[in-house]
Amino acid sequence: MFDNLTANQLDTLHTIFSVVSLIMGGMIGSFLNVCVSRMPQGLSVIKPRSRCPKCETPITWYDNLPVISWLILGAKCRSCKTPISWQYPLVEAITGILFLLVFLKFGLTLASPIYMILVASLVLVTFIDLADWTIPNEVTFPGMPLGIVCALIAMMVPESGLHLDDPIMAIAGLFAGGGILYGLDLLSLLLLKKRGMGFGDVKLLAMLGAFFGLWGVFLIIILASFFGSGIGITLILAGRKQTAVSEDDEEENVGHYLPFGPYIVMGGIVYLFYGPQIIETYLSYINVPGVM
Ligand SMILES: [Zn+2]
Repeated sequence: MFDNLTANQLDTLHTIFSVVSLIMGGMIGSFLNVCVSRMPQGLSVIKPRSRCPKCETPITWYDNLPVISWLILGAKCRSCKTPISWQYPLVEAITGILFLLVFLKFGLTLASPIYMILVASLVLVTFIDLADWTIPNEVTFPGMPLGIVCALIAMMVPESGLHLDDPIMAIAGLFAGGGILYGLDLLSLLLLKKRGMGFGDVKLLAMLGAFFGLWGVFLIIILASFFGSGIGITLILAGRKQTAVSEDDEEENVGHYLPFGPYIVMGGIVYLFYGPQIIETYLSYINVPGVM
Protein backbone atom coordinates (compact mmCIF):
# COMPACT_ATOMS: atom_id res chain seq x y z
CA MET A 1 0.00 0.00 0.00
CA PHE A 2 3.01 2.30 0.50
CA ASP A 3 4.98 1.05 -2.53
CA ASN A 4 4.95 4.38 -4.39
CA LEU A 5 6.39 6.43 -1.51
CA THR A 6 10.03 7.54 -1.39
CA ALA A 7 12.26 6.55 1.52
CA ASN A 8 11.96 10.08 2.86
CA GLN A 9 8.17 10.03 2.79
CA LEU A 10 8.19 6.63 4.48
CA ASP A 11 10.39 8.06 7.24
CA THR A 12 7.97 10.94 7.75
CA LEU A 13 5.04 8.54 7.86
CA HIS A 14 6.87 6.35 10.37
CA THR A 15 7.53 9.36 12.60
CA ILE A 16 3.89 10.48 12.41
CA PHE A 17 2.61 7.01 13.31
CA SER A 18 5.10 6.79 16.19
CA VAL A 19 3.95 10.11 17.65
CA VAL A 20 0.29 9.16 17.16
CA SER A 21 0.91 5.84 18.97
CA LEU A 22 2.52 7.64 21.91
CA ILE A 23 -0.30 10.20 22.22
CA MET A 24 -3.02 7.59 21.75
CA GLY A 25 -1.41 5.44 24.44
CA GLY A 26 -1.35 8.42 26.80
CA MET A 27 -5.04 9.06 26.17
CA ILE A 28 -5.94 5.40 26.68
CA GLY A 29 -3.82 5.52 29.87
CA SER A 30 -5.95 8.43 31.06
CA PHE A 31 -9.06 6.28 30.54
CA LEU A 32 -7.36 3.36 32.33
CA ASN A 33 -6.92 5.63 35.37
CA VAL A 34 -10.68 6.06 35.47
CA CYS A 35 -11.12 2.27 35.19
CA VAL A 36 -8.58 1.62 37.97
CA SER A 37 -10.40 3.89 40.39
CA ARG A 38 -13.95 2.88 39.46
CA MET A 39 -13.98 -0.79 38.38
CA PRO A 40 -13.19 -2.31 41.81
CA GLN A 41 -16.18 -0.40 43.20
CA GLY A 42 -18.44 -1.62 40.42
CA LEU A 43 -19.00 1.92 39.08
CA SER A 44 -19.53 2.86 35.44
CA VAL A 45 -16.29 3.84 33.70
CA ILE A 46 -18.16 6.01 31.18
CA LYS A 47 -20.43 8.18 33.30
CA PRO A 48 -20.13 10.56 35.03
CA ARG A 49 -17.09 12.32 33.56
CA SER A 50 -13.94 12.58 35.67
CA ARG A 51 -14.08 14.87 38.67
CA CYS A 52 -11.80 15.70 41.54
CA PRO A 53 -12.37 13.03 44.23
CA LYS A 54 -12.14 15.72 46.93
CA CYS A 55 -14.06 18.81 45.74
CA GLU A 56 -15.97 17.00 42.94
CA THR A 57 -15.25 19.73 40.39
CA PRO A 58 -15.51 18.15 36.92
CA ILE A 59 -12.12 18.00 35.20
CA THR A 60 -11.99 19.99 31.95
CA TRP A 61 -10.35 18.52 28.86
CA TYR A 62 -7.37 20.88 29.14
CA ASP A 63 -6.73 19.70 32.69
CA ASN A 64 -6.98 16.10 31.54
CA LEU A 65 -4.14 15.94 28.99
CA PRO A 66 -2.01 12.85 29.66
CA VAL A 67 1.02 13.61 31.87
CA ILE A 68 1.19 17.24 30.66
CA SER A 69 -1.76 18.53 32.70
CA TRP A 70 -0.44 16.88 35.86
CA LEU A 71 2.90 18.66 35.36
CA ILE A 72 1.29 22.03 34.52
CA LEU A 73 -1.05 21.83 37.52
CA GLY A 74 1.92 20.97 39.77
CA ALA A 75 0.23 17.69 40.81
CA LYS A 76 -2.70 19.57 42.41
CA CYS A 77 -6.41 19.96 41.67
CA ARG A 78 -7.03 23.32 39.95
CA SER A 79 -9.87 24.32 42.27
CA CYS A 80 -9.17 22.81 45.71
CA LYS A 81 -5.38 22.22 45.46
CA THR A 82 -5.71 18.63 46.73
CA PRO A 83 -2.59 16.70 45.63
CA ILE A 84 -3.16 14.42 42.61
CA SER A 85 -1.40 11.04 42.88
CA TRP A 86 1.66 10.42 40.70
CA GLN A 87 -0.03 7.18 39.76
CA TYR A 88 -2.14 9.06 37.17
CA PRO A 89 0.75 10.35 35.02
CA LEU A 90 2.61 7.07 35.62
CA VAL A 91 -0.19 4.98 34.11
CA GLU A 92 -0.47 7.45 31.20
CA ALA A 93 3.29 7.43 30.56
CA ILE A 94 3.58 3.63 30.76
CA THR A 95 0.65 3.12 28.39
CA GLY A 96 1.97 5.75 25.96
CA ILE A 97 5.46 4.23 25.91
CA LEU A 98 4.12 0.68 25.50
CA PHE A 99 1.93 1.77 22.54
CA LEU A 100 4.97 3.40 20.95
CA LEU A 101 7.08 0.25 21.50
CA VAL A 102 4.32 -1.92 20.01
CA PHE A 103 4.26 0.27 16.91
CA LEU A 104 8.07 0.29 16.63
CA LYS A 105 8.12 -3.51 16.93
CA PHE A 106 5.12 -4.52 14.83
CA GLY A 107 4.77 -1.55 12.45
CA LEU A 108 1.84 -1.25 10.09
CA THR A 109 0.47 -4.73 10.67
CA LEU A 110 -2.72 -6.09 12.15
CA ALA A 111 -0.66 -7.05 15.20
CA SER A 112 -0.11 -3.41 16.24
CA PRO A 113 -3.71 -2.48 17.16
CA ILE A 114 -4.36 -5.94 18.65
CA TYR A 115 -1.26 -5.83 20.85
CA MET A 116 -2.00 -2.23 21.83
CA ILE A 117 -5.36 -3.41 23.20
CA LEU A 118 -3.57 -6.29 24.94
CA VAL A 119 -0.93 -4.09 26.62
CA ALA A 120 -3.61 -1.58 27.69
CA SER A 121 -5.55 -4.40 29.35
CA LEU A 122 -2.36 -5.62 31.04
CA VAL A 123 -1.63 -2.14 32.44
CA LEU A 124 -5.19 -2.07 33.78
CA VAL A 125 -4.81 -5.52 35.38
CA THR A 126 -1.52 -4.50 37.02
CA PHE A 127 -2.79 -1.34 38.66
CA ILE A 128 -6.09 -2.87 39.79
CA ASP A 129 -4.22 -5.85 41.23
CA LEU A 130 -1.76 -3.59 43.08
CA ALA A 131 -4.53 -1.42 44.51
CA ASP A 132 -7.32 -3.88 45.09
CA TRP A 133 -5.78 -7.43 45.06
CA THR A 134 -8.22 -8.45 42.34
CA ILE A 135 -7.90 -9.09 38.63
CA PRO A 136 -10.98 -7.87 36.77
CA ASN A 137 -13.07 -10.53 35.01
CA GLU A 138 -14.05 -7.70 32.64
CA VAL A 139 -10.55 -8.12 31.15
CA THR A 140 -9.83 -11.83 31.45
CA PHE A 141 -13.22 -13.23 30.33
CA PRO A 142 -13.31 -11.43 26.96
CA GLY A 143 -9.50 -11.78 26.68
CA MET A 144 -9.53 -15.59 26.55
CA PRO A 145 -11.78 -16.00 23.47
CA LEU A 146 -10.19 -12.92 21.87
CA GLY A 147 -6.77 -14.60 21.98
CA ILE A 148 -8.14 -17.64 20.18
CA VAL A 149 -9.92 -15.45 17.60
CA CYS A 150 -6.63 -13.62 16.96
CA ALA A 151 -4.86 -16.92 16.28
CA LEU A 152 -7.67 -17.80 13.84
CA ILE A 153 -7.33 -14.43 12.09
CA ALA A 154 -3.53 -14.83 11.94
CA MET A 155 -4.00 -18.24 10.34
CA MET A 156 -6.05 -16.68 7.55
CA VAL A 157 -4.24 -13.35 7.15
CA PRO A 158 -0.66 -13.72 5.92
CA GLU A 159 1.83 -11.28 7.46
CA SER A 160 -0.52 -10.28 10.26
CA GLY A 161 2.55 -9.87 12.46
CA LEU A 162 0.80 -11.77 15.29
CA HIS A 163 2.95 -14.19 17.29
CA LEU A 164 0.53 -17.08 17.14
CA ASP A 165 -1.18 -18.32 13.97
CA ASP A 166 -2.42 -21.66 15.24
CA PRO A 167 -5.79 -21.72 17.10
CA ILE A 168 -5.02 -25.20 18.48
CA MET A 169 -1.88 -23.81 20.16
CA ALA A 170 -3.97 -20.91 21.48
CA ILE A 171 -6.45 -23.32 23.07
CA ALA A 172 -3.58 -25.45 24.41
CA GLY A 173 -2.01 -22.29 25.86
CA LEU A 174 -5.27 -21.28 27.48
CA PHE A 175 -5.70 -24.63 29.23
CA ALA A 176 -2.01 -24.95 30.13
CA GLY A 177 -1.91 -21.41 31.54
CA GLY A 178 -5.05 -21.85 33.60
CA GLY A 179 -4.25 -25.46 34.50
CA ILE A 180 -0.69 -24.94 35.75
CA LEU A 181 -1.61 -22.09 38.09
CA TYR A 182 -4.76 -23.85 39.24
CA GLY A 183 -2.67 -26.93 39.99
CA LEU A 184 -0.12 -24.87 41.93
CA ASP A 185 -2.94 -23.31 43.89
CA LEU A 186 -4.37 -26.73 44.81
CA LEU A 187 -0.90 -27.97 45.73
CA SER A 188 -0.31 -24.96 47.93
CA LEU A 189 -3.68 -25.49 49.60
CA LEU A 190 -2.79 -29.14 50.26
CA LEU A 191 0.78 -28.66 51.48
CA LEU A 192 0.78 -25.21 53.06
CA LYS A 193 -2.91 -25.02 53.93
CA LYS A 194 -3.19 -21.64 52.26
CA ARG A 195 -3.94 -20.40 48.78
CA GLY A 196 -0.87 -19.91 46.61
CA MET A 197 -2.50 -17.51 44.23
CA GLY A 198 -5.85 -16.05 43.46
CA PHE A 199 -8.19 -17.38 40.84
CA GLY A 200 -7.67 -14.06 39.03
CA ASP A 201 -4.06 -15.08 38.34
CA VAL A 202 -5.30 -18.37 36.88
CA LYS A 203 -7.59 -16.53 34.46
CA LEU A 204 -4.90 -13.98 33.59
CA LEU A 205 -2.37 -16.63 32.59
CA ALA A 206 -5.09 -18.53 30.70
CA MET A 207 -5.78 -15.33 28.73
CA LEU A 208 -2.08 -14.82 27.92
CA GLY A 209 -1.91 -18.50 26.95
CA ALA A 210 -4.68 -17.88 24.41
CA PHE A 211 -2.64 -15.01 22.92
CA PHE A 212 0.83 -16.58 23.03
CA GLY A 213 0.25 -20.34 22.97
CA LEU A 214 1.78 -23.21 24.88
CA TRP A 215 5.44 -22.12 24.62
CA GLY A 216 4.42 -18.61 25.57
CA VAL A 217 2.81 -19.88 28.79
CA PHE A 218 5.93 -21.78 29.85
CA LEU A 219 8.21 -18.82 29.22
CA ILE A 220 5.83 -16.39 30.94
CA ILE A 221 5.71 -18.58 34.08
CA ILE A 222 9.52 -18.73 34.15
CA LEU A 223 9.83 -14.97 33.62
CA ALA A 224 7.11 -14.20 36.19
CA SER A 225 8.81 -16.36 38.86
CA PHE A 226 12.11 -14.71 38.01
CA PHE A 227 10.66 -11.19 38.37
CA GLY A 228 8.67 -12.23 41.42
CA SER A 229 11.64 -13.64 43.31
CA GLY A 230 13.93 -10.80 42.22
CA ILE A 231 11.53 -8.06 43.28
CA GLY A 232 10.36 -10.01 46.34
CA ILE A 233 13.91 -10.40 47.63
CA THR A 234 14.65 -6.74 46.90
CA LEU A 235 11.58 -5.67 48.87
CA ILE A 236 12.45 -7.93 51.81
CA LEU A 237 16.03 -6.63 51.83
CA ALA A 238 14.74 -3.08 51.63
CA GLY A 239 12.65 -3.90 54.69
CA ARG A 240 9.47 -2.85 53.02
CA LYS A 241 6.54 -5.07 53.77
CA GLN A 242 3.26 -5.10 51.94
CA THR A 243 1.50 -1.86 52.81
CA ALA A 244 -2.13 -1.16 53.54
CA VAL A 245 -3.84 -4.49 53.24
CA SER A 246 -7.45 -3.97 54.16
CA GLU A 247 -8.61 -5.90 57.22
CA ASP A 248 -10.70 -8.60 55.61
CA ASP A 249 -7.90 -9.34 53.12
CA GLU A 250 -5.27 -9.71 55.78
CA GLU A 251 -6.00 -13.34 56.55
CA GLU A 252 -5.62 -14.69 53.04
CA ASN A 253 -2.62 -12.55 52.07
CA VAL A 254 -0.33 -13.42 54.96
CA GLY A 255 3.20 -14.16 53.77
CA HIS A 256 2.50 -12.59 50.41
CA TYR A 257 4.50 -9.51 49.53
CA LEU A 258 2.86 -8.42 46.33
CA PRO A 259 0.08 -9.77 44.17
CA PHE A 260 1.37 -12.23 41.55
CA GLY A 261 -0.62 -10.64 38.71
CA PRO A 262 1.90 -7.85 38.00
CA TYR A 263 4.68 -10.44 37.57
CA ILE A 264 2.60 -12.44 35.12
CA VAL A 265 1.99 -9.16 33.26
CA MET A 266 5.73 -8.41 33.17
CA GLY A 267 6.37 -11.90 31.83
CA GLY A 268 3.65 -11.37 29.21
CA ILE A 269 5.08 -8.04 28.08
CA VAL A 270 8.63 -9.40 27.81
CA TYR A 271 7.20 -12.32 25.82
CA LEU A 272 5.34 -9.91 23.54
CA PHE A 273 8.55 -8.12 22.57
CA TYR A 274 11.24 -10.81 22.87
CA GLY A 275 9.54 -14.17 23.52
CA PRO A 276 10.08 -15.96 20.22
CA GLN A 277 13.75 -14.84 20.11
CA ILE A 278 14.33 -16.05 23.69
CA ILE A 279 12.83 -19.45 22.87
CA GLU A 280 14.78 -19.75 19.58
CA THR A 281 18.02 -18.82 21.34
CA TYR A 282 17.36 -21.34 24.09
CA LEU A 283 16.49 -24.13 21.67
CA SER A 284 19.55 -23.49 19.50
CA TYR A 285 21.65 -23.49 22.66
CA ILE A 286 20.43 -26.95 23.68
CA ASN A 287 20.53 -28.04 20.02
CA VAL A 288 16.88 -28.74 19.42
CA PRO A 289 15.58 -27.83 15.95
CA GLY A 290 13.15 -24.88 16.02
CA VAL A 291 9.57 -25.55 17.05
CA MET A 292 8.22 -22.02 16.68
ZN1 LIG B 1 -10.47 19.37 43.83
